[in-house]
Amino acid sequence: MLDAGRHPKVNLLAYSQVEEVSGEVGAFQLKVRKKARYVNEDLCTGCGACVEKCPSKVEDEYNIGLGERTAIYKYFPQGIPSTHCIDAENCRQLGQGKKCGICAKVCQAGAVDYEQQDQFVDLEVGAIVLATGYDVFDPSVIPEYGYGRIGNVVTAMELERLLSASGPTHGHLDRPSELALRVEIAVLEKELQKATRQIEKLEEKHGKKTAKFVKEFKAGKAGEDGDFERWASLAEKAAVAEEKLAPLKKREATAHTAKKLAFIQCVGSRDFRFNRFCSSYCCMHSVKEAMIAYEHDNETTSSIFCMDLRAVGRGFEEYKLRGGKSSNVQYIRGRVAEITKGEAHNPIVWYESTTTRKVEHETFDMVVLATACVPSAGTPKLAELMGLDLDENGFFKTDPLAPLDTTRAGIFVCGCAQGPMDIPESVAQASSAAARAAEVVFTAPKAAAGGGK
Ligand SMILES: Cc1cc2nc3c(=O)[nH]c(=O)nc-3n(C[C@H](O)[C@H](O)[C@H](O)COP(=O)(O)OP(=O)(O)OC[C@H]3O[C@@H](n4cnc5c(N)ncnc54)[C@H](O)[C@@H]3O)c2cc1C
Ligand code: SF4
Ligand code: SF4
Repeated sequence: MLDAGRHPKVNLLAYSQVEEVSGEVGAFQLKVRKKARYVNEDLCTGCGACVEKCPSKVEDEYNIGLGERTAIYKYFPQGIPSTHCIDAENCRQLGQGKKCGICAKVCQAGAVDYEQQDQFVDLEVGAIVLATGYDVFDPSVIPEYGYGRIGNVVTAMELERLLSASGPTHGHLDRPSELALRVEIAVLEKELQKATRQIEKLEEKHGKKTAKFVKEFKAGKAGEDGDFERWASLAEKAAVAEEKLAPLKKREATAHTAKKLAFIQCVGSRDFRFNRFCSSYCCMHSVKEAMIAYEHDNETTSSIFCMDLRAVGRGFEEYKLRGGKSSNVQYIRGRVAEITKGEAHNPIVWYESTTTRKVEHETFDMVVLATACVPSAGTPKLAELMGLDLDENGFFKTDPLAPLDTTRAGIFVCGCAQGPMDIPESVAQASSAAARAAEVVFTAPKAAAGGGK
């Protein structure tokens, strides 16, 4: 990606979308909307001074809501170009009609530009390669798995963010129930601190401790003063916050990271209710995640529940066995029927073991759902725009004998836009698609006239 960003012959249009397509193989015309970032890409040095000072905080989509980001932000640290962007909807100045402008004041490069508008770029190209990838299946449509209802049932993507050193927990496997507990404690402590500060001022003003004042106020002996109703209400507020905090802090003191993990395979894949196909990469990413969790903390144990573990690739079977031998990973053959909520927010997995032929259940610290690979949300619209057919699963349809060729000459597809596949396969396909595109550009009769890139 870095190389592509630096390459003199690669014109990278990030944060952009194709809006119109016309022409034909060898001479396509595209209209691309380059969305306003409100930050000048050429001036931004990526220093992040604006992020430090921005007061508007929202859920961080990149960390799947497990952390917060500011309204001026960088989607992810390694993004190319290394620049920032303002999310106008959540910006006080651009989207909420309030005065702010802090980011512009602190940006020494003068890169913030609240007046920036979307721009349109016209391109003439000989061939097009679609690499629009996939989305992850939303498991909340399977109510028996409890996603969204049982906090410690997470998706594999969420686990990836938790395990990442640059993620919301810096690689510690903190459970969502404990993360929510910490937020609850922080909110209550803030409330308590605010009330305490105001109470202290009133104590000083009236030369009396709050305990004595409350006793007198309740007995109707406090006398008359404009402050007294507020003082009594602040005292009540502080007492309630303290009462709520005590059990939460007790729970926090016994909290631990997730050490006993369950991985549920084929969530939304190989399931006639949702997607009939195998998502191909999830068996291996579950083994990988279980091994990484063990590397972080070698008290971690993982149970991978699967119909069969599809280690299809050179060295994959050996990798799977290595997980079992050296990383406390066990493979359980059985389809999980239900996940219920046990004590201390621990999920309980109910399954039929096809080995013992019994319905069994086991309690875990955290359950990880290996969700299906589904066509990215924009696929139908893009197919319509480009005049392409989709296959029976909603991915771009290709010719079985020329697997990168879509149903329109000169338009190719690679990676998960064509169907589920892992990174090495996506990269190999990308190279092949580039070669197919080059072939078209140099051989199609209209290429020279169209000035295709
Ligand atoms: C939890 C999890 C863990 C995984 N771990 C591994 C692993 O360890 N090893 C491995 O090999 N594979 C792994 N995979 C699979 C891997 O993510 C995919 O193989 C890979 O991302 C496919 O690459 P891609 O470029 O085809 O698609 P994507 O990575 O999805 O990239 C597509 C890009 O296109 C952009 N886009 C989409 N629509 C448009 C549009 N209309 N206009 C402009 N841009 C658009 C998207 O924003 C995105 O940036 C994992 C998958 C998951 C879910
Ligand atoms: S102007 Fe918007 S983006 Fe900039 S600091 Fe204020 S809220 Fe944040
Ligand atoms: S790769 Fe494994 S988990 Fe994913 S759908 Fe196929 S069999 Fe199921």
